[in-house]
Amino acid sequence: MEQNQPRRRKAASKFKTPQYVFLILIALLVIGIGTVLTSYLTAGLSLELVGSKEVTVEYGSAFTDSGVLATYQSFLSGSEQVDEEVTVSGAVQQDKLGTYTLTYSLSYRGKTAEAKRTVTIVDTQKPVITLVYNSNSFTLPGHTYEEEGFTAEDNYDGDITDKVERMIQNDTVIYRVKDSSGNETTVTRPIQYGDQTPPVLTLNGESTITINAGTKFTDPGYTATDNVDGDITDKVTVTKDFSIYTPGTYTITYSVTDTYGNTATATRTLVIKKVSNPTVIQPGEKTIYLTFDDGPSSYTLELLDILDKHGVKATFFIKGSSNTAYLDDIVNRGHSIGIHTMTHDYKKLYSSVDNFMSEVYECQDLIYEKTGVRTTLLRFPGGSSNSVSKKYCAGIMTELTQLVQAQGFQYFDWNVDSDDAGDAKDSDTVFNNVVHGKGNWTGCEDVKTAIVLQHDIKGYSVKAVDQIITWGLANGYTFKALNSTSPGSHHTVRN
Ligand SMILES: [Zn+2]
Repeated sequence: MEQNQPRRRKAASKFKTPQYVFLILIALLVIGIGTVLTSYLTAGLSLELVGSKEVTVEYGSAFTDSGVLATYQSFLSGSEQVDEEVTVSGAVQQDKLGTYTLTYSLSYRGKTAEAKRTVTIVDTQKPVITLVYNSNSFTLPGHTYEEEGFTAEDNYDGDITDKVERMIQNDTVIYRVKDSSGNETTVTRPIQYGDQTPPVLTLNGESTITINAGTKFTDPGYTATDNVDGDITDKVTVTKDFSIYTPGTYTITYSVTDTYGNTATATRTLVIKKVSNPTVIQPGEKTIYLTFDDGPSSYTLELLDILDKHGVKATFFIKGSSNTAYLDDIVNRGHSIGIHTMTHDYKKLYSSVDNFMSEVYECQDLIYEKTGVRTTLLRFPGGSSNSVSKKYCAGIMTELTQLVQAQGFQYFDWNVDSDDAGDAKDSDTVFNNVVHGKGNWTGCEDVKTAIVLQHDIKGYSVKAVDQIITWGLANGYTFKALNSTSPGSHHTVRN
């Protein structure tokens, strides 16, 4: 029995051991295969975009692909970064507007994955319009604006000047342009109206004109036109400072200004040639007696100087109530002096013969006292032809003209009237009246013997004397002072 037991044990042991190992191996195999299978079946790839799925990039800015994260995950090996296995297809053309797709592909250990990203290149920048400004450019009022120039530049399209739309509204130029992306720019230019162009002033005739002293100067004229105002000839002002009786070279200045203040000037040279006195003058053939009434006055000394300058003698019919301080000068400088009464008061003088004669003698005495000359030369206030005396005493002039001669006086009227006590208010008019006459009055040029009436209490009349003498000398006249035998040039008595 004892032997049986170990045998049995032995026999039992032989049977149990291989069965046990075998089972373990089977189990291990099953577990191994299961694990591998499970690991494979549960493995996965993940492809994750870094950054946005849709990216917008402004044209001109750099685009950088921020890439993907690629991960392989399995039960056996755990998590594994496999970024280097990713391939990218597609490209972004950064210099061209548009939408681009980048495709990321991954194939690893029999698994695949894919991701996409869109990239859009956009242009949101507006074009730039640049205006050319010319500071001297003005649009003439009423005229169309003349374009000074402009350019339009876009960051993407480049030069788009030809796409600019231009319009004028309310004195403003509007420029508008759109780029290919629809970005729009508008700029404006206020129109600067104005006129900087001066008128055109054109002189007719020669730029230098020569005349003989004392002859008439007729301006050949001028025209003025302006780009805005048109014909503005009537706005031309002429500045001349000369006397045709005074030889010299003078400038006549013409000037005209348009409504915008632009001025044009032109000048002409006037040469007044001295005329030498005629060498042969028949004595008495042509004579001018210059006579001056109502003085002396503050102008008398100036007159005496003018007369001296030409060596000409004249006659002064003085008024006793005037500035008698110069009586002496008149006589001392060789001129004739005559009586023109004390008061020159028509009402008083012509009321009675006695009134008149007493003033004549009073004036004669005064002259004698001041100068030592007892003159018999007389001029009636208002002339012998005056009719104002009728108001005070009828027929008095008829009586006086006879009486004064009977008492040894010589009275003088005149045949040339300067009208300096009337309408002549400037030297040129006085001169013209004296030389050419006025109305019914003769001028010196009309007569061989001229007795000229002027008043040395009028400054402009005194100033005309220089011209008158120059003209007279140039035209063959001799100037003389009156004496008791000189022609009286008596008027017709009318009262
Ligand atoms: Zn008088």
